[in-house]
Amino acid sequence: MSSTKPESWRVEDSASLYRINEWGAGYFRLSDSGEVTITAPTPEGPATVQLNDIIAGIRERGYDTPVQLRIDNLLEDRIAQLNNAFASAIDANNYQGQYRGVFPIKVNQQAQVVEQIARVGEPYHHGLEAGSIAELMIALALCRGTESVIVCNGYKDRDFIDLGLHAIQLGVRCFFVAETLHELPLIIERSRRMGVEPLVGFRVKLSTKVQGHWEADSGERSIFGLSIIQMMEAVKLLRRENMLHCVKLLHCHLGSQLPDIGNICDGVREACRYYTDLIAEGCPLGWLDMGGGLAVDYDGSNSTGGYSKNYTVEQYCDSIVRTTAEMLDEVGIAHPMLVTESGRATVAYSSILLFNILDVSHFDALALPQQLPDDVHSQVVALSVCAERMQEATMERSHDSAVTLRNSIRSLFAEGSIKLPELALAENIYYDLMQRIADMAATMDKPPEKLANLKQARADIYYGNFSLFQSLPDNWALQQLFPVVPLNRLNERPTREAIIADITCDCDGKMDRFIGNTGPRSTLPLHEFTPGDDYCLGVFLVGAYQETLGSLHNLFGDNHVISVRINPDASFDFVHEIKADDADEVLRTVEYDPQYLLNELRNKAETAAQNGLIEVADRPQILEDYAKCLRGYTYFER
Ligand code: PLP
Repeated sequence: MSSTKPESWRVEDSASLYRINEWGAGYFRLSDSGEVTITAPTPEGPATVQLNDIIAGIRERGYDTPVQLRIDNLLEDRIAQLNNAFASAIDANNYQGQYRGVFPIKVNQQAQVVEQIARVGEPYHHGLEAGSIAELMIALALCRGTESVIVCNGYKDRDFIDLGLHAIQLGVRCFFVAETLHELPLIIERSRRMGVEPLVGFRVKLSTKVQGHWEADSGERSIFGLSIIQMMEAVKLLRRENMLHCVKLLHCHLGSQLPDIGNICDGVREACRYYTDLIAEGCPLGWLDMGGGLAVDYDGSNSTGGYSKNYTVEQYCDSIVRTTAEMLDEVGIAHPMLVTESGRATVAYSSILLFNILDVSHFDALALPQQLPDDVHSQVVALSVCAERMQEATMERSHDSAVTLRNSIRSLFAEGSIKLPELALAENIYYDLMQRIADMAATMDKPPEKLANLKQARADIYYGNFSLFQSLPDNWALQQLFPVVPLNRLNERPTREAIIADITCDCDGKMDRFIGNTGPRSTLPLHEFTPGDDYCLGVFLVGAYQETLGSLHNLFGDNHVISVRINPDASFDFVHEIKADDADEVLRTVEYDPQYLLNELRNKAETAAQNGLIEVADRPQILEDYAKCLRGYTYFER
């Protein structure tokens, strides 16, 4: 389905087609020569490098795509931006409390990421949020200073609680957020036994409904948190136990990726009402945690769409600070310490998935013969006549007749009345006709409804060297949109419309929703590809959730992970590299013993040699090739 001619295409056209300036947040742009650039803050001001120069450096170091690229400076900048924006809002609103951010470890648990957040966050007293005992173990070991906090969400058993109480013994401010009423007796019992006063938080289910992907999970039907009735029961229980003074924090989480700032303000207002009345009940509080939700503008539409947001980080911080101050000033209550648990907005920008295209499948017709063979079936002749007579005015009718004739020709093939070459001829005539109808419909202002998407329905399939399930699970599970951009030939018009298939041979392993200028589109414009071309795609803003939720579907393991730091002089250093899982490691993950597999193969080769299927001398090569695969990358290697 080739379309318009490749001339008169400018780099700006690519920038606008892939909306890079809209979602790039100033970090990602196109240079005048058509290179994707990364601009990162450095101690001496912003510095810009070309992504393809980084890829060349990765290859020089012996790694090939697929690669997960992390840009350290971008992660640092996000932490700085969030903390500085809260500091400015606190200043501007004459707010009396302070801000303490916590990073929810579940959003990216990779050691290198969490360690970097703990290190970079130290001057801002940025802490960590733990949702499980293993995450608390990370948080407790990594959190720095005595000013930062740890927030423990999720279900807590005895060991979890004991560890949190040890944290308090060590001088770490570690809050237990009660998700259910039943956690409280255990917290009371363990704290008495250990002689450590707990810092208790109540997680309240706000009734504020939010827009976005998690709309259905917000409000009183949200899974976690205390209902109003349960919260009053919790107050009574702690009062009875003389422990009401331990309730120091009110927690709420409206949902992730909140697109509308109005919803966030409503949530803060509602939380402040609970805050006020819990104080009246005798809980000292002092801390208000608004959870996660700060969204990322994945599609760059700056809107209330599910993959966007209609506010800046500064507006987000200002709304929380100002609304809290207004609400509590009205009732004369001191401003609390503010906590947020921003995950997505902290880490999304710093990671890019890079993969190469391996192959492409077209649905184009080949050149048609001048004349049909003499003995061709009458239905094939009818299809050919239908194709010849097609005109714009009758194209819908021609389309319908062609579909009917094609079905009937396929039935004839199934019952053995026509042979494969004749079927192939009919398919070619059909493809050629559909291509012409699709091209015609694409030029019409109002094409007939059923023909409007014909071009997309006939899009190419570009095969990418990656696993959707391992690297972009939210695209598969939640239809989440991520910006996808070719990294080569951006000064050329892309003449193909494509969907992208991964190499898992799972029919779900495909990307067929992309960001577009007027909403999501089902195909991505790409350049003509011939196998052997070096043509790479970048999937951007993938640092949040994707690395952690990924799975070993088809036993494709983790990608190589390479971290880069951009220097003030626009050079860059490779600061960290993690070689991908080899097949041996991936097999062990699912409980295979590679040595056992190798022994089994050795026995098979021996039997094959005894039975004369192979020469004995062939045996070492077969075993060596198997052993080499065990040491190899699970993805396609060039
Ligand atoms: N806090 C809690 C309790 C959460 O459940 C989540 C994720 O849904 C987050 C924080 C992180 O949210 P986000 O990634 O939107 O910042």
